[in-house]
Amino acid sequence: MPTRKVLSIPAPDGTQISIPYFEFVGSDPGPHLTVIAGIHGAEYSSIAAARKFVAELDENQVIGRITVMPIVNVLAFWARAPFVIPVDQQNLNRAFPGKPDGSFTDIYAFHVFENIIKGSDYLIDLHAGDIPEALEPFTIFEESAVEAMSLAMAKAFGLKHIVRQRAAGMVVAGSTSATASATGIPAIIAESGENGILDPVAVERHLVGLRNMARFLGVLSGEAIEVGETILYDGWNWLRAEQPGWWEPAHPTGAVVKSGELLGTMKDLWGDHLCDITAPQDGTVLFQTSSPAVIANGILVGLALH
Ligand SMILES: [Zn+2]
Repeated sequence: MPTRKVLSIPAPDGTQISIPYFEFVGSDPGPHLTVIAGIHGAEYSSIAAARKFVAELDENQVIGRITVMPIVNVLAFWARAPFVIPVDQQNLNRAFPGKPDGSFTDIYAFHVFENIIKGSDYLIDLHAGDIPEALEPFTIFEESAVEAMSLAMAKAFGLKHIVRQRAAGMVVAGSTSATASATGIPAIIAESGENGILDPVAVERHLVGLRNMARFLGVLSGEAIEVGETILYDGWNWLRAEQPGWWEPAHPTGAVVKSGELLGTMKDLWGDHLCDITAPQDGTVLFQTSSPAVIANGILVGLALH
Protein backbone atom coordinates (compact mmCIF):
# COMPACT_ATOMS: atom_id res chain seq x y z
CA MET A 1 0.00 0.00 0.00
CA PRO A 2 1.29 3.49 -0.78
CA THR A 3 1.71 6.15 1.91
CA ARG A 4 -1.01 8.80 1.68
CA LYS A 5 0.38 12.31 1.98
CA VAL A 6 -0.95 15.86 1.72
CA LEU A 7 0.70 18.95 0.26
CA SER A 8 -0.64 22.11 1.96
CA ILE A 9 -0.64 25.43 0.13
CA PRO A 10 -1.69 28.68 1.87
CA ALA A 11 -4.83 30.19 0.29
CA PRO A 12 -5.41 33.95 -0.01
CA ASP A 13 -8.14 33.80 2.67
CA GLY A 14 -5.74 32.33 5.24
CA THR A 15 -6.98 28.73 4.95
CA GLN A 16 -4.88 25.83 3.63
CA ILE A 17 -5.50 24.08 0.33
CA SER A 18 -4.88 20.34 0.76
CA ILE A 19 -3.67 18.27 -2.21
CA PRO A 20 -3.58 14.48 -1.74
CA TYR A 21 -0.71 12.47 -3.17
CA PHE A 22 0.77 8.98 -2.88
CA GLU A 23 4.27 7.60 -2.27
CA PHE A 24 5.23 4.06 -3.29
CA VAL A 25 8.62 3.00 -1.93
CA GLY A 26 10.17 -0.23 -3.15
CA SER A 27 12.34 -2.42 -0.92
CA ASP A 28 15.25 -2.10 -3.37
CA PRO A 29 16.87 1.24 -4.17
CA GLY A 30 16.25 2.76 -7.59
CA PRO A 31 15.18 5.91 -9.38
CA HIS A 32 12.43 8.30 -8.26
CA LEU A 33 9.63 8.77 -10.81
CA THR A 34 7.08 11.51 -10.20
CA VAL A 35 3.69 11.32 -11.94
CA ILE A 36 1.38 14.33 -11.86
CA ALA A 37 -2.00 15.00 -13.46
CA GLY A 38 -4.75 17.58 -13.11
CA ILE A 39 -2.51 20.62 -13.57
CA HIS A 40 -5.61 21.50 -15.59
CA GLY A 41 -8.43 20.36 -13.32
CA ALA A 42 -11.03 19.38 -15.93
CA GLU A 43 -8.83 17.08 -18.04
CA TYR A 44 -10.55 14.06 -16.55
CA SER A 45 -9.13 11.22 -18.69
CA SER A 46 -5.59 12.04 -17.54
CA ILE A 47 -6.66 12.47 -13.90
CA ALA A 48 -8.52 9.15 -14.03
CA ALA A 49 -5.42 7.43 -15.45
CA ALA A 50 -3.29 8.66 -12.52
CA ARG A 51 -5.98 7.49 -10.05
CA LYS A 52 -6.17 4.05 -11.70
CA PHE A 53 -2.37 3.78 -11.81
CA VAL A 54 -2.35 4.28 -8.01
CA ALA A 55 -5.24 1.86 -7.41
CA GLU A 56 -3.63 -0.92 -9.45
CA LEU A 57 0.05 -0.44 -8.59
CA ASP A 58 1.62 -3.14 -6.39
CA GLU A 59 4.25 -1.54 -4.14
CA ASN A 60 6.19 -4.86 -4.20
CA GLN A 61 6.85 -4.26 -7.91
CA VAL A 62 8.34 -0.82 -7.35
CA ILE A 63 12.13 -0.44 -7.49
CA GLY A 64 13.06 2.92 -5.98
CA ARG A 65 10.20 5.36 -5.52
CA ILE A 66 7.07 6.48 -7.37
CA THR A 67 5.23 9.64 -6.30
CA VAL A 68 1.76 10.24 -7.80
CA MET A 69 -0.30 13.43 -7.43
CA PRO A 70 -3.48 12.84 -9.48
CA ILE A 71 -5.12 16.28 -9.11
CA VAL A 72 -2.53 19.04 -8.74
CA ASN A 73 -5.02 21.86 -9.41
CA VAL A 74 -7.77 20.88 -6.97
CA LEU A 75 -9.35 24.36 -7.19
CA ALA A 76 -9.96 24.02 -10.94
CA PHE A 77 -11.19 20.47 -10.38
CA TRP A 78 -13.94 21.56 -7.97
CA ALA A 79 -14.78 24.62 -10.08
CA ARG A 80 -14.82 22.56 -13.34
CA ALA A 81 -12.64 25.35 -14.71
CA PRO A 82 -10.63 24.78 -17.91
CA PHE A 83 -6.96 25.90 -18.22
CA VAL A 84 -6.62 28.14 -15.14
CA ILE A 85 -6.62 28.41 -11.37
CA PRO A 86 -9.98 30.11 -10.75
CA VAL A 87 -8.66 32.39 -7.96
CA ASP A 88 -6.66 34.58 -10.37
CA GLN A 89 -7.51 33.07 -13.79
CA GLN A 90 -3.85 32.22 -14.51
CA ASN A 91 -2.60 29.06 -16.23
CA LEU A 92 -0.62 26.97 -13.72
CA ASN A 93 1.30 25.34 -16.57
CA ARG A 94 2.88 28.70 -17.46
CA ALA A 95 3.93 29.55 -13.88
CA PHE A 96 6.66 27.02 -12.98
CA PRO A 97 8.98 27.07 -11.08
CA GLY A 98 6.80 29.66 -9.35
CA LYS A 99 7.60 32.31 -6.74
CA PRO A 100 6.97 32.32 -2.98
CA ASP A 101 5.75 35.94 -3.14
CA GLY A 102 4.14 36.34 -6.61
CA SER A 103 0.52 35.92 -7.73
CA PHE A 104 -1.53 33.13 -6.17
CA THR A 105 -0.78 30.89 -9.19
CA ASP A 106 2.96 31.68 -8.80
CA ILE A 107 2.80 30.66 -5.12
CA TYR A 108 0.84 27.49 -6.00
CA ALA A 109 3.44 26.52 -8.65
CA PHE A 110 6.27 27.26 -6.18
CA HIS A 111 4.90 24.80 -3.58
CA VAL A 112 4.27 22.08 -6.19
CA PHE A 113 7.71 22.52 -7.72
CA GLU A 114 9.63 22.63 -4.42
CA ASN A 115 7.82 19.71 -2.78
CA ILE A 116 6.80 17.39 -5.62
CA ILE A 117 8.88 17.99 -8.76
CA LYS A 118 12.29 18.99 -7.33
CA GLY A 119 14.36 15.97 -6.31
CA SER A 120 12.68 13.62 -8.81
CA ASP A 121 14.83 11.66 -11.24
CA TYR A 122 12.08 11.68 -13.89
CA LEU A 123 8.82 13.60 -14.32
CA ILE A 124 5.70 12.81 -16.32
CA ASP A 125 2.79 15.25 -16.42
CA LEU A 126 -0.47 13.76 -17.76
CA HIS A 127 -2.89 16.00 -19.67
CA ALA A 128 -5.84 15.76 -22.07
CA GLY A 129 -7.77 18.19 -24.24
CA ASP A 130 -9.59 20.52 -21.87
CA ILE A 131 -13.36 21.23 -22.00
CA PRO A 132 -13.32 23.31 -25.23
CA GLU A 133 -10.44 21.38 -26.85
CA ALA A 134 -10.32 18.48 -29.34
CA LEU A 135 -7.05 16.55 -29.33
CA GLU A 136 -5.09 13.80 -31.05
CA PRO A 137 -2.92 11.88 -28.52
CA PHE A 138 0.69 13.13 -28.37
CA THR A 139 3.69 13.68 -26.10
CA ILE A 140 5.91 16.75 -25.69
CA PHE A 141 9.53 17.03 -24.61
CA GLU A 142 11.85 20.03 -24.48
CA GLU A 143 15.14 20.95 -26.08
CA SER A 144 17.50 20.67 -23.08
CA ALA A 145 20.68 19.02 -21.79
CA VAL A 146 18.57 15.97 -20.84
CA GLU A 147 16.50 15.80 -24.02
CA ALA A 148 17.85 12.42 -25.20
CA MET A 149 16.40 10.80 -22.07
CA SER A 150 13.16 12.80 -22.34
CA LEU A 151 12.74 11.59 -25.94
CA ALA A 152 13.40 8.01 -24.81
CA MET A 153 10.65 8.43 -22.18
CA ALA A 154 8.25 9.74 -24.86
CA LYS A 155 9.06 6.77 -27.12
CA ALA A 156 8.50 4.33 -24.25
CA PHE A 157 5.17 6.01 -23.48
CA GLY A 158 4.30 5.02 -27.02
CA LEU A 159 1.99 7.68 -28.46
CA LYS A 160 2.48 8.09 -32.21
CA HIS A 161 3.02 11.87 -32.28
CA ILE A 162 6.01 13.34 -30.38
CA VAL A 163 6.73 17.08 -30.43
CA ARG A 164 10.13 18.53 -29.54
CA GLN A 165 9.72 22.05 -28.17
CA ARG A 166 12.57 24.34 -29.11
CA ALA A 167 14.11 26.54 -26.42
CA ALA A 168 14.34 29.57 -28.75
CA GLY A 169 10.94 31.23 -29.15
CA MET A 170 9.41 28.66 -26.82
CA VAL A 171 5.64 28.40 -27.41
CA VAL A 172 5.01 27.32 -23.83
CA ALA A 173 7.28 28.80 -21.14
CA GLY A 174 6.87 27.92 -17.47
CA SER A 175 5.43 24.46 -18.08
CA THR A 176 6.19 21.50 -15.83
CA SER A 177 8.29 19.72 -18.46
CA ALA A 178 10.19 22.83 -19.59
CA THR A 179 11.08 23.77 -16.01
CA ALA A 180 11.96 20.25 -14.90
CA SER A 181 14.17 19.55 -17.92
CA ALA A 182 15.90 22.93 -17.53
CA THR A 183 16.92 21.82 -14.01
CA GLY A 184 18.22 18.46 -15.25
CA ILE A 185 15.14 16.27 -14.68
CA PRO A 186 14.15 14.39 -17.88
CA ALA A 187 10.45 15.12 -18.35
CA ILE A 188 7.53 14.71 -20.72
CA ILE A 189 3.94 15.87 -20.99
CA ALA A 190 1.56 13.19 -22.31
CA GLU A 191 -1.82 14.14 -23.78
CA SER A 192 -4.71 11.68 -24.29
CA GLY A 193 -8.43 12.47 -24.19
CA GLU A 194 -10.37 15.55 -25.20
CA ASN A 195 -13.21 17.95 -24.40
CA GLY A 196 -13.15 17.25 -20.67
CA ILE A 197 -14.76 13.85 -21.30
CA LEU A 198 -13.95 10.88 -19.06
CA ASP A 199 -13.19 8.51 -21.95
CA PRO A 200 -12.18 4.92 -21.02
CA VAL A 201 -10.15 4.50 -24.23
CA ALA A 202 -8.14 7.66 -23.50
CA VAL A 203 -7.63 6.58 -19.87
CA GLU A 204 -6.34 3.16 -20.95
CA ARG A 205 -3.98 4.75 -23.48
CA HIS A 206 -2.45 6.85 -20.68
CA LEU A 207 -2.20 3.81 -18.37
CA VAL A 208 -0.52 1.55 -20.91
CA GLY A 209 1.98 4.29 -21.71
CA LEU A 210 2.67 5.11 -18.07
CA ARG A 211 3.32 1.50 -17.07
CA ASN A 212 5.55 0.84 -20.07
CA MET A 213 7.53 4.02 -19.43
CA ALA A 214 7.93 3.13 -15.71
CA ARG A 215 9.31 -0.29 -16.74
CA PHE A 216 11.63 1.33 -19.27
CA LEU A 217 12.97 3.62 -16.49
CA GLY A 218 13.53 0.63 -14.21
CA VAL A 219 11.22 1.87 -11.45
CA LEU A 220 8.59 -0.84 -12.08
CA SER A 221 9.44 -4.53 -12.47
CA GLY A 222 8.78 -6.24 -15.80
CA GLU A 223 10.07 -5.78 -19.31
CA ALA A 224 9.16 -2.70 -21.31
CA ILE A 225 7.83 -3.59 -24.74
CA GLU A 226 9.00 -2.05 -28.00
CA VAL A 227 6.38 0.43 -29.08
CA GLY A 228 5.35 0.98 -32.70
CA GLU A 229 6.43 3.71 -35.05
CA THR A 230 6.45 7.31 -33.86
CA ILE A 231 6.56 10.63 -35.72
CA LEU A 232 8.87 13.33 -34.36
CA TYR A 233 7.89 16.98 -35.00
CA ASP A 234 10.27 19.91 -34.83
CA GLY A 235 8.25 22.42 -32.81
CA TRP A 236 4.83 24.04 -33.01
CA ASN A 237 2.85 26.82 -34.50
CA TRP A 238 -0.09 27.73 -32.25
CA LEU A 239 -2.55 29.78 -34.29
CA ARG A 240 -4.61 32.37 -32.43
CA ALA A 241 -7.65 34.49 -33.30
CA GLU A 242 -6.93 38.13 -34.12
CA GLN A 243 -10.52 39.07 -33.20
CA PRO A 244 -13.38 37.35 -31.37
CA GLY A 245 -15.72 35.20 -33.43
CA TRP A 246 -17.61 31.99 -34.19
CA TRP A 247 -14.90 29.43 -35.04
CA GLU A 248 -15.46 26.39 -37.27
CA PRO A 249 -12.48 24.07 -37.87
CA ALA A 250 -12.14 22.64 -41.39
CA HIS A 251 -10.53 19.33 -40.36
CA PRO A 252 -10.68 16.75 -37.59
CA THR A 253 -7.61 16.52 -35.32
CA GLY A 254 -4.83 14.37 -36.77
CA ALA A 255 -5.26 15.99 -40.21
CA VAL A 256 -2.06 16.50 -42.20
CA VAL A 257 -2.11 19.90 -43.94
CA LYS A 258 0.05 21.74 -46.44
CA SER A 259 1.12 25.38 -46.14
CA GLY A 260 -1.74 27.62 -47.32
CA GLU A 261 -4.45 25.00 -46.74
CA LEU A 262 -7.66 26.09 -44.99
CA LEU A 263 -7.74 25.24 -41.23
CA GLY A 264 -11.08 26.86 -40.43
CA THR A 265 -13.21 29.97 -40.65
CA MET A 266 -14.21 32.80 -38.32
CA LYS A 267 -17.66 34.41 -38.55
CA ASP A 268 -19.27 37.18 -36.54
CA LEU A 269 -22.45 36.87 -34.49
CA TRP A 270 -24.54 37.93 -37.52
CA GLY A 271 -23.19 34.90 -39.39
CA ASP A 272 -21.07 37.03 -41.73
CA HIS A 273 -17.64 35.76 -42.75
CA LEU A 274 -14.74 37.45 -40.91
CA CYS A 275 -11.70 35.55 -42.17
CA ASP A 276 -10.24 32.24 -43.25
CA ILE A 277 -7.51 30.70 -41.11
CA THR A 278 -4.89 28.95 -43.24
CA ALA A 279 -1.85 26.85 -42.39
CA PRO A 280 1.32 29.02 -42.35
CA GLN A 281 3.51 25.90 -42.70
CA ASP A 282 3.15 22.17 -43.45
CA GLY A 283 2.07 20.32 -40.32
CA THR A 284 -0.32 18.05 -38.43
CA VAL A 285 -3.29 19.35 -36.43
CA LEU A 286 -2.64 17.82 -32.98
CA PHE A 287 -5.21 19.90 -31.11
CA GLN A 288 -7.76 22.59 -31.86
CA THR A 289 -10.49 24.53 -30.17
CA SER A 290 -13.75 22.68 -30.76
CA SER A 291 -15.94 25.29 -29.07
CA PRO A 292 -17.23 27.85 -31.59
CA ALA A 293 -16.82 30.69 -29.05
CA VAL A 294 -13.33 32.17 -29.40
CA ILE A 295 -12.20 35.45 -27.85
CA ALA A 296 -9.48 37.73 -29.24
CA ASN A 297 -6.08 36.02 -28.96
CA GLY A 298 -7.81 32.69 -28.18
CA ILE A 299 -6.09 29.55 -29.45
CA LEU A 300 -7.54 28.02 -32.63
CA VAL A 301 -5.15 25.28 -33.75
CA GLY A 302 -1.98 23.60 -32.45
CA LEU A 303 -0.04 22.72 -35.60
CA ALA A 304 2.95 20.38 -35.12
CA LEU A 305 5.50 21.24 -37.80
CA HIS A 306 6.82 18.78 -40.35
ZN1 LIG B 1 -3.64 20.40 -19.91
